[in-house]
Amino acid sequence: MARLLTIEEALERILSHVRPAGAELVQTEESAGRVLAAPVVALTDLPPFPSSAMDGFAVRAAETPGAFPVAVRIAAGRPADRMLRPGEAMGIATGGALPDGADAVVPIERAVDRDDEVEIEEAASAGDNVRPRGGDVRAGDEVLPAGTRVSASQIGAIAAAGLAQVSCAIRPRAVVLTTGTELRPAGSTLGPGEIYESNGAMLAAVLRSAGALVERLDPVADDETSHRAALERGLRADVLVTTGGVSVGPHDLVRAIEAELGVEEVFWGVAVRPGKPLAFGVRDRTLVFGLPGNPVSSLVGAELFVRPAVLALQGATLVHSRWDRGTLVAPLRRNAARDELARARSRDGEAGVELVPVSGQESHMIVRAAGADALVLVPRGDGEVGAGTSVRYLRLA
Ligand code: AMP
Ligand code: MG
Repeated sequence: MARLLTIEEALERILSHVRPAGAELVQTEESAGRVLAAPVVALTDLPPFPSSAMDGFAVRAAETPGAFPVAVRIAAGRPADRMLRPGEAMGIATGGALPDGADAVVPIERAVDRDDEVEIEEAASAGDNVRPRGGDVRAGDEVLPAGTRVSASQIGAIAAAGLAQVSCAIRPRAVVLTTGTELRPAGSTLGPGEIYESNGAMLAAVLRSAGALVERLDPVADDETSHRAALERGLRADVLVTTGGVSVGPHDLVRAIEAELGVEEVFWGVAVRPGKPLAFGVRDRTLVFGLPGNPVSSLVGAELFVRPAVLALQGATLVHSRWDRGTLVAPLRRNAARDELARARSRDGEAGVELVPVSGQESHMIVRAAGADALVLVPRGDGEVGAGTSVRYLRLA
């Protein structure tokens, strides 16, 4: 086998084959998790008018302190029908429109309200407790750039800027196919040599959380006919993710049948542990991932490579998983040839995040891995990475 690609090299090759799909209009309300296909531009100044930041009294700052007749009481959504004349004050609620003539709001707590008169004991300054028009954003300015993945705060901004709909990337269609004669669905009774199929639901969850629409096919046994039919079907999607059958054994059929079906293999094998025998290829616009069957290998491969590809298909600006830094609490042995992603649990320490490797780092140990919330990068090399070392880690969603 040729030199294995590093994680970065493999990801670069995958992303170079991504052809982003088109866009569609999405109700703002439904846009969480979607990627903006065009910038969102404000339809109005925000705030649209100078407004009060407090419940209080609108005044001319230069006239304070003093006692003022209360001319009008302004509620949010009910502006005054005239300007503030010299010598008077107006009651005003938070969010109420500041009347013309006023330049400050004195909070209720700093005023003595006597129904038709208010006494203000301290001098106010112009601008006090006033939210200027356009202070957050101006009409026509960009609220969010294209490529943004919409989160809760961003939905708020889109709605505040007046947009009922936004242009979003079409969600990629993904098919998940698990392979292995030994696999049985959870809920059934296991026969001799059988195990519960667990990668399918896990990979579907990764894909959905990256924005894909997921179809699951029934697991296929390790025979050519069932592989062929299922793979042919999966190749109609934007992304086909298989697990198992991608190694070197006599029952590993995925790559050979995919080649028959016209998939061009871009690479096979990445210098990562777990997850080395990972295959990536393309047929037309379809990205084809062959993940290993061991559940932890499959999870790591999906987090490192499939998630970024699905985000890239949607034109997301941030597709690379974010590597954070933390301190390793117990030593981890290095692998001479491959970068390792060790499963660890993170905790808050005195000097930042501490990472405690979980016991049971083998690639079939999905239950042990489920106790982890971080994948710690152990760079290939000799010896070990000692306790107290600063390491990079990927937070598991
Ligand atoms: P393979 O890559 O097909 O050689 O499978 C490697 C190991 O992963 C074997 O022990 C399989 O039984 C197991 N395995 C394969 N696919 C799955 C799956 N979908 N769910 C759980 N374990 C699996
Ligand atoms: Mg297998």
